Amino acid sequence: MTIVAAPWERAARGAGLLRPDESLAPTIFAEFSALATAHGALNLGQGFPDDEPPEQVRDAASAAIASGGNQYPPGRGIPLLRQAIADHQRRFYGLDVDPDREVIVTAGATEALAATLLAFCEPGDEVVVFEPYYDSYAAVVALARARLVTVPLQSPHFEPDLDALAAAVNDRTRLILVNTPHNPTGAVFGRGVLETVVALAHRHDALVVTDEVYEHLVYDGAHVPVSALPGATERTITISSGGKTFNATGWKIGWVVAPPHLTDAVLAIKQYLTYAGGTPFQHGIARGLTLPDEHFDALRRDLAERRDLLSAALTAAGFDVSPAPAGYFLVADAARLGVQDGDAYARQLLREQGVAAIPVNALVSEAGRARYSSLLRFAFCKSRTVLEQAAERLSSARPGNA
Ligand code: PMP
Ligand code: GLN
Repeated sequence: MTIVAAPWERAARGAGLLRPDESLAPTIFAEFSALATAHGALNLGQGFPDDEPPEQVRDAASAAIASGGNQYPPGRGIPLLRQAIADHQRRFYGLDVDPDREVIVTAGATEALAATLLAFCEPGDEVVVFEPYYDSYAAVVALARARLVTVPLQSPHFEPDLDALAAAVNDRTRLILVNTPHNPTGAVFGRGVLETVVALAHRHDALVVTDEVYEHLVYDGAHVPVSALPGATERTITISSGGKTFNATGWKIGWVVAPPHLTDAVLAIKQYLTYAGGTPFQHGIARGLTLPDEHFDALRRDLAERRDLLSAALTAAGFDVSPAPAGYFLVADAARLGVQDGDAYARQLLREQGVAAIPVNALVSEAGRARYSSLLRFAFCKSRTVLEQAAERLSSARPGNA
């Protein structure tokens, strides 16, 4: 019997996600975390914090475990969390959200993205994203048999070219997927960019999906949620997550906020992905969303300091570092160190200097490889001790021979 390639394998190959000799490739984050462990390297690769969730958030999850919150939650999420999400949208952005009809709790933003893309894309539909992009985008677009259309962000500020964006959107565009604040670059898209996205979506009858998981990690400037813009709400699906805001990436509690007909479509898929999950963690994140402003302010202040610490270390080591007004990451250009192949250099840095970073090349389409080839992404959401050790190790990094 000949075993034919599984449908996913075929789709992934077609989308350039697998090399001809591979049938399973771990994500770049999983691969570099495993390499960091194997080599005893400092892990500035995968974006998870060294800090713990706030005590009240942990206590709320523990209390739920101790008091019967251990069975399936409702498919849309526990009412307490849905109400907390609706209250959060009003408190921070002045948005009116119906917790019963316009919110769905998901297994992290990752499931929200997958369910949304699978809910709305027909095979052959086009999905427009800025490049570089979070790794799951290309994978779920492939799962949905849709086509990824990329619009490059220009280093060092990673602003999109609005003419290139307009050229990428057409009547085949099913949705425009916007990640702001942006991973990996830390860019925050301003009102002008987002208004252009909404106008293009109207013109071509497309949906807008926003990934706002770093919404509370903006250090310079302000986060603008797309759905707060005129004419946006009716066609925008907002995705976020408690992972970054509450140092709880392993809890995988995310959410979708959108008008009822759109959340219903997402739920139709989501209920067959995980059905529902994480009841005690839903209680924890619900508590987190009601924390006073001081929690959100302190998180931002603290991360901004760590960003500055790592940025200074990378600059001293000879990298050209992009500004990163938001998020968990700094993008550092190693071209002046003689680096042409960021993937090979990231592996060299990990082995020889004991510092793991992600090659930005892994977060782009085939067509974008050359443009970003000397860039590495370093996570600054790690402890000060780890960042100081990394600074020390980077100071002795020898120029890349990769
Ligand atoms: N989107 C972006 C831009 C991310 O960086 C991440 C990873 N944290 C996710 C989505 C996934 O979020 P979650 O862990 O809540 O699934
Ligand atoms: N969001 C994290 C990052 O960008 C990784 C999450 C994951 O490993 N899927 O590094």
